Amino acid sequence: MIYLDANATTPLLPEVIEAMLPWMRERFGNPSSAHSAGRRARRAVESARAQVAALLQAQPEEIVFTSGATEAINAVLSFAQAEWTDRPVLITSQVEHAAGLEAAERWQAQGGEVRLIPVDAQGLLNVEVLESELKAGRVALASFIWGNNETGVITPMARVVELCHAAGVLVHADAVQVAGKMPLDVSAVPVDYLSISSHKMHGPQGVGALFVNRRVPFRPLLVGGGQEAGRRSGTENVPGILGMGHAAFMASDWLAAGGEKQMSALRDALESVLLLGWSGARVHGAAAPRLPGTCSLCLPGVDAAAMLIRLDQRGIACSGGSACHTASLHPSHVLEAMGCDAASAASTLRLSLSRLTTPDEIHRAAQEILSCARHIQQQG
Ligand code: PLP
Repeated sequence: MIYLDANATTPLLPEVIEAMLPWMRERFGNPSSAHSAGRRARRAVESARAQVAALLQAQPEEIVFTSGATEAINAVLSFAQAEWTDRPVLITSQVEHAAGLEAAERWQAQGGEVRLIPVDAQGLLNVEVLESELKAGRVALASFIWGNNETGVITPMARVVELCHAAGVLVHADAVQVAGKMPLDVSAVPVDYLSISSHKMHGPQGVGALFVNRRVPFRPLLVGGGQEAGRRSGTENVPGILGMGHAAFMASDWLAAGGEKQMSALRDALESVLLLGWSGARVHGAAAPRLPGTCSLCLPGVDAAAMLIRLDQRGIACSGGSACHTASLHPSHVLEAMGCDAASAASTLRLSLSRLTTPDEIHRAAQEILSCARHIQQQG
């Protein structure tokens, strides 16, 4: 299989599996136990915390392990709504992942107000609208996706943080797709809260982390045994956390070795073959800064749903608008927000590379995609 669906999930790296295995075999202590097995588990969790913190240039005590980014996002938004009751407004964007959008819907259902910032035709956040919404006041929190999971378009987070902080508003960043693909530094871009997910960076599924800047308040969504320094109760998923820590460590290495440039060169090579090979083909958000491995490609006249099936039969895994949209006929809300018409959205494939994608796979995938598209066009 040629796997071009890394924005949905990524394969576990062998080194990550090795780091986890002992904790699924002979080691099993509860990090809260005082005996040596418990203390060993505690040390392992704390070393994973330091690895995740290093990926973000954060302090270990600013990292809270969760069951994934969905939980982290829900925790921040629930906290902000409960904490700042005198400021009922949430500012977010039209192009959030479902986790952010649904949490915003609940914010509204619970009596709050949500202001959605639009994006332009390239998928870039309209910073002028953000500025005027901030001026309107009564804002509890601003929450933005940093790297879009469908188009790869990057939010100008430094500017967003600057504007929000000037208005006295704290910022949450959904950095799921950015973490491990581009350098992140929470001191250079001082977001207040940030959510990441292990399985998007070659770690295990069902584990993630919430960064909470040490200067900002936070109260937990999950209460109980007081784990994670009282910020997320529930016995830690020790093997998962160790896997995430190791994945973060490997991602830091990969970034330091220039991995991001190599990945974007591969993505660019894929795009240039496809753009040349299909009349009218275009890449959504091509003129905006983008994640290195994401390509949202419109092949006019080609039904993306039929393409996905045919490509799957030929051993190529990719998706339509986004993974959760592949089974539905709804046009992607992200492409809609960019002003893309329904026909173009229905002809759009999302191709997303992982660190394991090779030049040979890119070459073969490009040929297969063009051949499948020709086949589907002839049939239609
Ligand atoms: N945010 C973005 C941008 C994502 O791509 C995803 C996963 O697809 C999530 C949040 C949810 O992450 P998790 O699967 O860890 O709950």
